[in-house]
Amino acid sequence: ELKRQEQSQRLAAIGQLASGVAHDFNNLLMVITGSLQLIGKRTDDPALVRPLKNAQDAADRGAALTRQLLDFARAGPVDLESVDLAALLPSLSGLLGQTLGPAITLVIDIDPAAATVTSNAAQLELALINLAVNARDAMPDGGTLTIAARPARQPGGIDLTVRDTGQGMPPAVAERAMEPFFTTKGVGKGTGLGLAQVFGIVSRSGGSVSIDSTEGVGTTITMTLPAA
Ligand code: ADP
Repeated sequence: ELKRQEQSQRLAAIGQLASGVAHDFNNLLMVITGSLQLIGKRTDDPALVRPLKNAQDAADRGAALTRQLLDFARAGPVDLESVDLAALLPSLSGLLGQTLGPAITLVIDIDPAAATVTSNAAQLELALINLAVNARDAMPDGGTLTIAARPARQPGGIDLTVRDTGQGMPPAVAERAMEPFFTTKGVGKGTGLGLAQVFGIVSRSGGSVSIDSTEGVGTTITMTLPAA
């Protein structure tokens, strides 16, 4: 419980910091992008083509990161609603399949007795997409992603689980995986905000998130949500 509180406070602090900085940062990036485009148009030095492209790519990457930070910071209180997982998942499966690519099999397994949760449909979709991206990254040679819903052990809860057959995490990584900005994916690849965002979304729905991961076997993320 203490850890949960700490994590929520940390998220709120980062949200404030992010909204304060991201907006100004974005304006600076616009200046950089505009200037690069002008230089690109006015120069015919072939030795500058590559460095200009690198600079533009870095600015684009910065813009994408600020966008993600702003989304993250904006994620204040959400409108809670009844979400029918039996309807949401089939409608999301096309996008999830596209995210996963052809080498990963997507299995959706919703228990009709555990199909309606209290959350926010758009946010829950975002959480599932984040989890699918992580699962894809953990299964470079393909595998299976299973999204299932079952009654939770505690009455009144529903476990929405996302399970992959990927590389798994060592305990030290699993321990820190939900921390904002914690990533093992390297500069320019991961932002470390995916699982923090999942945590935020599920917390705001009144639920909790747990990670069960075994190296070389796979990872199961369980989102326990209130039944509607
Ligand atoms: P990012 O994906 O940008 O690194 P996340 O917060 O989504 O940020 O994940 C943090 C870290 O947790 C990842 O860098 C990775 O090491 C680990 N992780 C998350 N999901 C999985 C998974 N399904 N399998 C293995 N490792 C994972």
